[in-house]
Amino acid sequence: MALFPFLITKLPRTSLSQKYRNHERIHFRQQLELLLIGFYLLYALEFLMNYLKLDDWTAAYRNISFEREAFTHESNLKYLKNRKCFAQWRHVGRD
Ligand SMILES: [Zn+2]
Repeated sequence: MALFPFLITKLPRTSLSQKYRNHERIHFRQQLELLLIGFYLLYALEFLMNYLKLDDWTAAYRNISFEREAFTHESNLKYLKNRKCFAQWRHVGRD
């Protein structure tokens, strides 16, 4: 879990995969763009709206635009070098 500037996990730092670290770095970038509080408010709001629509906890989480972007690009370790600002909203409404 990324809570800028901290990465919170039960696993030892050395066991974290590059893919996992990249996923969380994408969240750090999203958080900075939205000045932290905006990220958390929108994240929670999107989750709630998705949950009301989908009635499934996991689907609601996976359909949050911030998560869509992070899951889509977590394997591309160079993604953040070319990422455009607010790119998470390119992932809204897809399924
Ligand atoms: Zn995530």
